[in-house]
Amino acid sequence: GHATVLVTGGAGYIGAHAVLALTEAGYRAVVLDDLSTGERAAVPDDVPFVHGSVGDPDLLADTLERHGVGTVMHFAGSIVVPESVEQPLAYYRNNTLNSHALIEACVRAGVERFIFSSTAAVYGVPDRMPVREDSPTEPINPYGRSKLMTEWMLRDAAAAHGLRFAALRYFNVAGADPKGRAGQRSKVATHLIKIACEAAVGRRGEVMLFGDDYPTRDGTCVRDYVHVSDLADAHVAAVRHLEAGGENGVFNCGYGHGYTVREVLDAVERAAGKPLSVRVVGRRAGDPPELVAAKDRIVAALGWQPRHDDLDTIVRTALAWERRLAAATG
Ligand code: UDP
Repeated sequence: GHATVLVTGGAGYIGAHAVLALTEAGYRAVVLDDLSTGERAAVPDDVPFVHGSVGDPDLLADTLERHGVGTVMHFAGSIVVPESVEQPLAYYRNNTLNSHALIEACVRAGVERFIFSSTAAVYGVPDRMPVREDSPTEPINPYGRSKLMTEWMLRDAAAAHGLRFAALRYFNVAGADPKGRAGQRSKVATHLIKIACEAAVGRRGEVMLFGDDYPTRDGTCVRDYVHVSDLADAHVAAVRHLEAGGENGVFNCGYGHGYTVREVLDAVERAAGKPLSVRVVGRRAGDPPELVAAKDRIVAALGWQPRHDDLDTIVRTALAWERRLAAATG
């Protein structure tokens, strides 16, 4: 069998999908989560759950040892860009300092592999599309910087201590488990597909469209939306890659093509079978017109084979999850 995989943030949106992908691939998972945004109910009953912070060295040492952890997947962290501008020190603590504590605990405990949840925000406003991994990393907000610093710590710890790592730079993650076992629960939605699906099930009124005067095919921003289950599979592929002696590195996680905000809203209207009420407002600060991944590296190195590379599938699964949430909470 495989050594156990510790999934930090495994009660959250992406972490919960990673737990499903890991167990389906035959790995044992253990979840560590402080439940600040995640929910206990997101963790399957047969997966051990540790309630606590990634910033707690004693808890980490105990958990790594007790469960025989050989690989860590690190999802726990804060992800709201505007919040990171208002509370930068909270972001550097929760993302950077806690990651430091985790990496240090891993090195001490002899954990062999570390898969890190990074972000396309490390690129800032790239000047070439699609964005390659060797593009300059010039993040434009504390969120992106807090993640980039963690990539640097991993690179340096790998060089000095032999820890193996893969950092996956996510583009726009969306959708939900096609079998309905997991999805995005967060109370404060900021991402487009989640917001549009909430509107489609009547949980909010208008959808604000932030800017329709960008230099794109319909004037609205283009993003590379990735189905969360494909993203979860990429993490499992990264574990296998490192287990097989593959090289450490950073990998974009996107499909290599994008959709405009209007195309996304059209897809939600198609899936819902009714129109949304959309109001065009001014641009949101810090939004690049286009953000699309170059995916050659992840496909070549990890053998990643996306199964849900289709906007309608992403939107359909997101909407099904939103309906389920609405039915559960009234
Ligand atoms: N967006 C929008 N209305 C919303 C949320 C997002 O028009 O309520 C736009 C946003 O300006 C961007 C795109 O949708 O052009 C994707 O934004 P999101 O916050 O989902 O992801 P980001 O690319 O910022 O990580």
